[in-house]
Amino acid sequence: MRHIAIIGSGPAGYYTAEAAQKAFGEDVRIDIFDCLPVPYGLIRTGVAPDHQSIKGVARRYEQVALTDNVRFVGNVTVGRDISVEELRSLYDAVVLATGAPKDRPLDIPGSDLVNVFGSAAFVGWYNGHPQFASLDPDLSGRTAVVIGMGNVALDVARILAKTEAEFVGSDIVAHALDALRASCFERIVLLGRRGPHQIMMTPKELGELGHLERAAPHVQRGDLPPEAEDAILEPGLRKSVAVLRQFAAIPEDIRGEKPVAIEFAFCAQPVELLGKDGRVTGVVIEETEVVKGKAVPTGRRGTLAADLVISCIGYRSVPIPGVPFEEREGRFANDEGRILPGLYCVGWARRGPSGTIGTNRPDGYGIVEKIAEDMAAGQLGHGGKQGREGFDAIAKSRALDIVTFRDWKKIEEAEQKAAREGAPREKFVDVEAMIRART
Ligand code: NAP
Repeated sequence: MRHIAIIGSGPAGYYTAEAAQKAFGEDVRIDIFDCLPVPYGLIRTGVAPDHQSIKGVARRYEQVALTDNVRFVGNVTVGRDISVEELRSLYDAVVLATGAPKDRPLDIPGSDLVNVFGSAAFVGWYNGHPQFASLDPDLSGRTAVVIGMGNVALDVARILAKTEAEFVGSDIVAHALDALRASCFERIVLLGRRGPHQIMMTPKELGELGHLERAAPHVQRGDLPPEAEDAILEPGLRKSVAVLRQFAAIPEDIRGEKPVAIEFAFCAQPVELLGKDGRVTGVVIEETEVVKGKAVPTGRRGTLAADLVISCIGYRSVPIPGVPFEEREGRFANDEGRILPGLYCVGWARRGPSGTIGTNRPDGYGIVEKIAEDMAAGQLGHGGKQGREGFDAIAKSRALDIVTFRDWKKIEEAEQKAAREGAPREKFVDVEAMIRART
């Protein structure tokens, strides 16, 4: 029998478990650990609440979770409740699928002002992540500035722009819906430090901004490069730029009919956040020129008023004691997923925060191939490790309060029962409430 521990129950974790089941069949036992009492990582706390079809992939993970040789071990923090070293001594392979839950720091003066948030915190807040449930952003201002031109920036802008009716069918948590209902933004400004040809937004997600009830996208025709230059772009980006061109073609009077403007500001690098009485009031922006794909500052500066600033500029993994870490990249030091003998990483913990949910599937299958190769080469010992029995003994001796998949199904049932009309669930937003709901 072989034993595999997967740390993290998000997409990378579950695809790895699925791949390990296929590769090793009945000869493997897989434990999937999570620091929260609930599974699915970013599917639950990252994917936007109005993108329920993407969240539907959890049904596939549930099929994996419900098989006999896979176990969910929730409410256990690796690095605190049990060390990676201990897990390595118990399991033939330990796979870190811990994602990249920390914001890449904005690192400009004023980043610590009140009502400035990173996207991990803000997205966690509207998705009910217990760590961010008490964030309490002030949404009563006129102008929100969203830094970055990736899909997370799009999610944040769209959530800020939607009406209550547009959240029907979503699982946005009650505290966020209440705050958004009372919000009155007139401008949501997306800041890109490079140009339209360098956006990181995918066409489908970008296109959604064109169908909002009270908000319209504002793209200045003059900001776009000549159309002939789009030919050099890779097809996905070319489609996104085509969407920007459609937005630019919306006549002024038509887009003016909607009271909220989602403005695209290109070649606009934020260099300082301004504040009054400790609270953010504006962003100093330096104009850039894109030279060989890089943003080069021009020295021309201006100020944009801002009541709320959300920086959506990427994420970092959180280091775990004893595991080599690449500080600059913000991920575990690895060679195609191999960290140390018997220790691997996968998904964002391996490659950084890129790609879609689906990108984690080949990643998970790829790491299991490496594990199989290393096993065949005798690099992971010759079996005989204790696996879950050894872990259970440690958990008992430390009085860890483990949440099982069966417990999770009870928590899920309670969340479904508590759902407002039309919503799939009302999430518990604190760990104690989740744990209470399993009984
Ligand atoms: P991203 O795609 O890497 O975009 C980050 C953005 O932040 C870029 O526009 C980047 O500009 C900008 N940026 C970085 N550092 C900056 C700085 N110091 N100052 C100003 N701007 C800065 O990251 P993301 O939006 O966080 O998304 C992460 C991953 O999740 C992506 O692969 C994304 O596609 C995926 N995702 C997908 C969906 C979906 O499919 N629906 C939804 C959400 C997220 P530069 O390009 O100039 O560096």
